Formats: sequence, C-alpha cells, structure tokens
Amino acid sequence: MLDSNLFPYCDGTLCCEGISLQKLAEEYGTPLFVTSRNSLVNQYRAFEKAFEGLDHFTCYSVKANFNLHVIRTLADEGCGCDVNSGGELFRALQAGVEPGKIIMAGVGKTAADIEYGVRSGVLMLKAESLSELRLINDVAGGLGKNASVGIRINPNVTAETHPYITTGDSKEKFGVDETDLDEVFALLKALEHVDLVGLDMHIGSQIFDADFYHAALEKLLDVLAGARSAGFNIRYFDIGGGFPVTYDPQKPATPIEQFAEKLVPLLEKTGTTIVFEPGRFITANSTVLLTRVLYRKRNHAGKEFVIVDAGMTELIRPALYQSYHEIVAVCQHDSVMVADIVGPVCESGDFFARERTVDRVEEGDLLAVLSVGAYGSVMSNNYNGRLRPAEVMVDGKKARLIRKRETFDQLVQNEMF
Ligand SMILES: *Cc1c(COP(=O)(O)O)cnc(C)c1O
Repeated sequence: MLDSNLFPYCDGTLCCEGISLQKLAEEYGTPLFVTSRNSLVNQYRAFEKAFEGLDHFTCYSVKANFNLHVIRTLADEGCGCDVNSGGELFRALQAGVEPGKIIMAGVGKTAADIEYGVRSGVLMLKAESLSELRLINDVAGGLGKNASVGIRINPNVTAETHPYITTGDSKEKFGVDETDLDEVFALLKALEHVDLVGLDMHIGSQIFDADFYHAALEKLLDVLAGARSAGFNIRYFDIGGGFPVTYDPQKPATPIEQFAEKLVPLLEKTGTTIVFEPGRFITANSTVLLTRVLYRKRNHAGKEFVIVDAGMTELIRPALYQSYHEIVAVCQHDSVMVADIVGPVCESGDFFARERTVDRVEEGDLLAVLSVGAYGSVMSNNYNGRLRPAEVMVDGKKARLIRKRETFDQLVQNEMF
C-alpha cells in the first residue's frame, strides 16, 4: 500500500511527491515506472529504527530493484548490498557501493562470479554447497588471496507464503543441510584459502509471521554453537530478507516492529553482528507503473476487458505468483466498473487483474498499477519484441529520468547480421 503522503491526490490527480503522474506520463510516455525517492529513504530508516540498539548491518537485496539510482539512494543512507551474481555485483559497484559493504550470494555462482567477488574484495561470499566451497578455495588460491565466506544453512522451515518464494524448506535447492555441517566444517578446516566468518539463512519472501524466523533462528543458533565449538570465529549472523509489505489494504503486513520485538532477544544472544537483507520491504511501495488504456471491449459473455499498454513484460508478478496489485485511475473518478485489466502480450496469463472492481476508465485514460517497486522492472523482458520501459525517480518537486526507454535498435544489437 502506497504512503498517501508520498503519493497524494492533488486536484483529483494522483501525484508522486510533488509531481503529477499525468504530467510525467505526458513527458516520458507510457508504460513508465515512477519511483518516490523519499519512500525508499523512509522505508530504510523505518527498518533501521526497528532494529536500532542491535549490533547489525543492513544489506539491501539488489535483486528487488537494481536500478543504479535506487542502489545509490540507499548507499547514500549508509546501507550495504546483497548481490546474487556477477551482474548484480557490477551494478552495486557502478552505483558506488563500497566492496566491503557487499555480500555475494547465489545458489549457482560460476568461477567467474567468484573471481569477480574475490578480486573486488566483497565482505563475504555465501557458499551453498561443499563443491562451491572447494571452488571458492581454488579461485581465491589462484589469486593469491583468502576469501571470507558465510555458509547458507537450509533450516528446513516452511514459511507460509507463495510456493515460488519459499526458500528455507528441505525441498528447495537453497543452502546446506544441517545434517551436512560436520562435513562442511571438516572441509573448511582443510581448505587454506577460505575463512569462515558468517552463517546465513534466507527462508523466503513476503513472510507475514515472525514465528517462521524464530523457528529457523533457533536452529541457526545450534549451528552457531557447533561452529564455535569446532573452533570457528563467526562474526556475522545473516538472517536474510523476506520482510513483508502490504499490497492489498485488506491484508495488511505485520509491522516490522513486531519482527524486531520477537527476534531481537534471540539475535542478541549470538554475540555477532547481525546482517539483514531486506529487498521487497525497502522498494515495493516506492514505485507505480503508469499505463495507458488502449482499448475497451466487451465479449458476448458480458465480460469487460480493459487493454492497456503495459503487460507481463513490464510486470510479471500477477502471471508468475498470482500477485495482487492495486490499480487506480490517475485522474480520480466517482464511478467504478468490473473488468479484467490485461496487457498486449500474446499470452492468456498476461493480465494485471481479473474481474476487478476498478475506477471507470475510457480509452486514452491513465491507470497506475501500485506497489511495483520490488520484482517489477527487474523482471521486465523483451518478449513479443517489447521495449523495456523508462523509469523516473521523483524527489520532492524534481523528476529525473533514471532509465531510458529501450529502442528498436537495442532489441537487435547483439544479433550479428
Ligand atoms: C531475494 C533475497 C533477499 C531479499 O528478499 P526480500 O523478500 O525481497 O526481502 C535477501 N537475501 C537473499 C539471499 C535473497 O535471495
């Protein structure tokens, strides 16, 4: 749910901070992602406030929204980064994040990814298997360096969320099983170029109930005790991301303070620096997707379709996770209609809402799809020959283009002819 102070209606038109979204659509065209800079800052500060007093370090999970300006905004606040690949590491470094504030994760890092991370001097590489530990050791040794590593533990806790975004269950591909830890510790002792400095978990995304973290943390505390008695000096205890946001006002997310209240007492026991990796929590509600109504049509069954100029190529979440996004008319209306809001892509899954009661709109009107700042533009693609949209960041009364719209030439630039 958007913060109505940052996305107010001014004279009946939805604004981002001090700028009318209608004006931005006219200036930059649609589809258009519009991000409130102050929303990012406020969410980051709210997170920091909830955990103040706890020895911790927050690494924004870049995969939620990797625009350089988004990363930079958070880095300017003192935030570090969690990256999942060489490409995300490149983005974080380009945005000016200090390597010592970057943690590198990823279940399938290649030797090239690892080399890039070690050469850059990231704070820690998270290893997810015995084989990966051996590879990190070889790569670091080849560079004449030592790599600081964390072990991602799969705590075998099934967080109740969408099955595609639960990651801490023994059915999932992520992390090392607790049962393999003796082997992991033995291997770590034998490897000369890796230093174990952290333990890590990430149990999923959009997790509403702090009890899932609590259960996983209790297991991780046992692992911590085991690692210490095996002689390792664990400095970082990384509990990942997954903190929830409200998409549907009918289903408000658990406030972050409740997570803090429940988890801080356990976290304080570790005697380590706690690492958090929020992604969605920071960015989801910072951004709207502006889209113009191309056509309206009604079929023989009386179904009403609103065909808009954005689709699953810009926002795949409804198709991929059955996600709910609020949709409102940019110019306020008194009347409503029931319709399917669908995109132009040749897939039946290309919809934003089905049988939804929405503001009545006509052809040419603007709609705003809300809360698209996390896992929105980062998942955009060129299917159907579509161009990735432009992105704008608003700070007060200033708007700035932070990503240009793609061009047809860019669509074919890597194809030699
Ligand atoms: C995706 C991911 C995150 C961020 O998850 P959110 O639900 O967006 O907070 C954090 N850590 C790791 C390892 C991830 O894969």
